[in-house]
Amino acid sequence: MRTKLVVGNWKLNGSLAGNEALLKAVQAGVSAAKDRICAVCVPYPYLAQVGSLLRGTAIAWGSQDVSRHEKGAFTGEVSGAMVAELGARFAIVGHSERRSMFGETDSIVAEKFAAARKAGLTPIFCVGETLAEREAGVTESVLARQMDALLSKQGAAALEGAVVAYEPVWAIGTGKTATSAQAEEAHAFIRARIAAQDAGVAGRLPILYGGSVKGSNAAELFAMPNVDGGLVGGASLAADDFIAIWRAA
Ligand code: 13P
Repeated sequence: MRTKLVVGNWKLNGSLAGNEALLKAVQAGVSAAKDRICAVCVPYPYLAQVGSLLRGTAIAWGSQDVSRHEKGAFTGEVSGAMVAELGARFAIVGHSERRSMFGETDSIVAEKFAAARKAGLTPIFCVGETLAEREAGVTESVLARQMDALLSKQGAAALEGAVVAYEPVWAIGTGKTATSAQAEEAHAFIRARIAAQDAGVAGRLPILYGGSVKGSNAAELFAMPNVDGGLVGGASLAADDFIAIWRAA
């Protein structure tokens, strides 16, 4: 059995006071469990605060991005080592919002994945097709291209201990969740792509679903054999909903 993960992605939301209130409420409903992990990925400036609020609790934390560079003249960038030094465990890389709005290509995302790993973080590598791509019937070739950017250069072994998130762009923030069958089909495709290189790594890899996950639809999605939890945007900002999703895992 793979460990299930429920990871909140706060995106560009938060404040010192609001973070503290939200995490207190989430902590009240999340206890240490052998079979599932709860984590929140927060804006960089809050990593230290969130780290000190969550130290010793059942909730892990991480960043929403990481630089592909280690150090030097890269104004505005934040390195994996900086994030790891604050006690973070996870780093999301290649979120569709970074790919579409901030020019991150498949190869940049693959470099970020390597940088996060090198820093000792657990990368959460995001892939997913747009609505136009789904309607054009090219979902699998898009997922293959995004996965191959990693697999061709770094090999399946790089995914050992990492996490993949399938987030169909058309389901993100739209309230339009993929059906559990659509999610399962994409997850199985991703796992098979990795298994073609290394069946062991593929079998151990948690693949999360993201895109309008809520307390009301989480159980059905997480019941799918290849869906190992969720990457949760909007609903991670409401403690009750986030706790309900974690319980469903
Ligand atoms: P929503 O849950 O708000 O649709 O966002 C999903 C997401 O992008 C998580 O990374």
